[in-house]
Amino acid sequence: MSTCLVTGGAGFLGSHLCDELLRRGHRVICVDNLETGSLANIHHIRQPEFVHLNLDIIEPYFVDEPVDFVYHLASPASPIDYLRLPLHTLKVGSHGTHHTLGLAKKHRARFLIASTSEVYGDPQEHPQRESYWGHVNPIGPRGVYDEAKRYAEALTMAYHRQQGVDTAIMRIFNTYGPRMRPHDGRAIPTFLRQALQDRPITVFGDGSQTRSFCFVSDLIRGMIALAESGFHNPVNIGNPNEFTLLELARAVIEVTGSRSEIVFEALPTDDPQVRQPDIALAREVLGWEPEVALIEGLRRTIDEAGVETLVGAPA
Ligand code: NAD
Repeated sequence: MSTCLVTGGAGFLGSHLCDELLRRGHRVICVDNLETGSLANIHHIRQPEFVHLNLDIIEPYFVDEPVDFVYHLASPASPIDYLRLPLHTLKVGSHGTHHTLGLAKKHRARFLIASTSEVYGDPQEHPQRESYWGHVNPIGPRGVYDEAKRYAEALTMAYHRQQGVDTAIMRIFNTYGPRMRPHDGRAIPTFLRQALQDRPITVFGDGSQTRSFCFVSDLIRGMIALAESGFHNPVNIGNPNEFTLLELARAVIEVTGSRSEIVFEALPTDDPQVRQPDIALAREVLGWEPEVALIEGLRRTIDEAGVETLVGAPA
């Protein structure tokens, strides 16, 4: 049994990670100040091997008991959150990552950072390989998130090269599943919420921009495989099947049997036109690839989350 510390463990991905680590027999310390997460995501966990510490990792923090793995997920992650919390986003990516790397160093723990496909910005290489350096507007409104993650990756490599910390960098592409918040502004929870209420589905631009959607169970399997691999360079984890936003809206209508119509709204600033992971490296070093197709993942999201939760209270 290993002890795993999960920052952001009460969030969407973090809570699924806590569940899976516990299922595999590990002890889990969840560090989360509930800034964008919720106790509702972890209240079902009853095992004595689980503990939640309500700490803000922007401030220095320490854990006395030995830790074997550190999974660093804490950060606002949806555009609605990081546009509302720009300074917090920069601080959690910089100070929060610095403190968490220091903790991993002290415990000689393996450290994994949840980075993002947003480090590629509005990419000029398609699909994106890990060797691509990206195309990011540092001073645009989204820059707070993209640059925080780019800085966090640089800090992680510096701790690895200078301090010998055993680090991993996971570049996560769009992920969906139960426990996404209905009003977090991302395409799948928004479209599901609208479709389940037979309201118009709002597609940005003309809907021709593309995304690749990974179901959460696939993502978590890849995350644990990377943490347990000993690999140091960044690895893309995502589903390489690419869909336009219009295709996604139609898939959501099909799965929900909705009577919604599709309407078009202005494209947000610096919204990437294309996004698709090249996962050759993950296949090679982790033997990982996604298994859940979009339609099946949408069905599982509805079944596991329930219509009431997906519709949610008004924003
Ligand atoms: P989320 O907002 O649901 O979870 C983030 C968690 O971090 C929340 O529980 C929040 O309360 C916590 N947190 C934020 N600031 C904190 C602080 N200062 N101290 C302690 N806890 C803090 O987001 P998510 O979708 O689960 O994303 C998790 C990670 O994965 C993030 O780092 C995100 O950048 C990355 N990621 C997610 C996706 C995705 O599609 N969901 C894609 C790319 C990268």
